[in-house]
Amino acid sequence: MIHTDVLIVGGGPAGLAAAITASRYGKDVILMERDPHLGGQLIKQTHMFFGSEKQRASVRGFDIAKEMFDKLDTISNIRIFKKTTVTAMYDDGVVTASNKDGYIKLKPKVVIIATGAYEKSLAFPGNTLPGVYGAGAVQTLMNMQGIKPGQSVVMVGAGNIGLIVSYQLLQAGVDVKAIVDAAPSIGGYAVHAAKVRRMGVPIHTRYTVKKAHGEKVLTGATIWALDERWQPVEGTEIDLECDIMCVSVGLSPLSELLWQRGCEMVHIGELGGYVPRTDLHHETNIPGVFVAGDVGGIEEASSAMVEGYLTGLYVNKRLGVEDPEMTELIEDYHKQLMELRSGPVGDKIRAGLDRAKL
Ligand SMILES: Cc1cc2nc3c(=O)[nH]c(=O)nc-3n(C[C@H](O)[C@H](O)[C@H](O)COP(=O)(O)OP(=O)(O)OC[C@H]3O[C@@H](n4cnc5c(N)ncnc54)[C@H](O)[C@@H]3O)c2cc1C
Repeated sequence: MIHTDVLIVGGGPAGLAAAITASRYGKDVILMERDPHLGGQLIKQTHMFFGSEKQRASVRGFDIAKEMFDKLDTISNIRIFKKTTVTAMYDDGVVTASNKDGYIKLKPKVVIIATGAYEKSLAFPGNTLPGVYGAGAVQTLMNMQGIKPGQSVVMVGAGNIGLIVSYQLLQAGVDVKAIVDAAPSIGGYAVHAAKVRRMGVPIHTRYTVKKAHGEKVLTGATIWALDERWQPVEGTEIDLECDIMCVSVGLSPLSELLWQRGCEMVHIGELGGYVPRTDLHHETNIPGVFVAGDVGGIEEASSAMVEGYLTGLYVNKRLGVEDPEMTELIEDYHKQLMELRSGPVGDKIRAGLDRAKL
């Protein structure tokens, strides 16, 4: 049995940030990440970030991740386990994980769940054909492995991820035939939509996929319009040739461990689905179980990082650390989150988070 003060599950931006502040006052920290590399979704992001200087605005996502890796390298009281999946959390506080060496049992004093999110999918005939991808897989191929996924793409979803990945596909020399979104208006930022439109990509709102074509692999797609009651309109079909379809229709919190541990969960559409109820300190109704990042509600990498820093400090408070500097840092991170959550999208997130409060 491994004993530790803090166990962090997930090495994305939220988990990395949490590790940095959780270790700040000398506590033993273990971080477990199921992938062979750290960084979660952040290392796939090649665009420059928004926000303020504190959230590394104008720095590219993968460079922000690198800065965090460098910082972690300087901290001696963090142990990092890669290729290690946390599999269960028990009522007596024992947590289990597994990796190639076998089964690991841990007894942390507190746990931060920072497992992120999974991509939602879409049901339509042909959606299992090779060539139909999620946006995460396309970003992994292009931005991590340097592989151009195909020659021409139909993007499904005009949220920020759909728009950003479309732009990245254009940069990689892929012909973006169209972006399709069932909603009446574009969900992502106008600045991202303007960029792809300037490059000649049509964005069809109130449209969805009727069918993906192909025998063994994807060769094309038919899209059709939706009426005000979201019903397809016969006669509005558009046929598009493509060898990739990229489905980017939203994310849902990856919350299985929280369900299993018996955390109180609530469905909040604005936050992507079921999220745990938490107090102001990001602690769930199960004492000692904290959350940070997308698992507590879908936002962006910048807010996931700030939440991570904040939660790392709150677990120190929970473990009895008192420090005037910590109070100042907590105030500052709260202020940063308020700034990130301003504007119309932020209003919805704040309303959702309020409903999730314990
Ligand atoms: C395809 C895609 C594109 C995106 N593009 C952008 C963008 O361009 N700009 C932007 O700001 N945001 C973007 N986002 C959103 C942003 O990436 C997320 O908001 C942010 O990464 C959330 O950070 P996180 O640490 O909560 O989760 P993640 O980055 O998802 O990290 C979670 C980590 O936990 C690990 N994990 C999960 N379960 C376990 C387990 N049981 N045991 C061990 N490890 C586990 C995962 O492997 C992963 O590394 C995108 C998200 C996706 C999915």
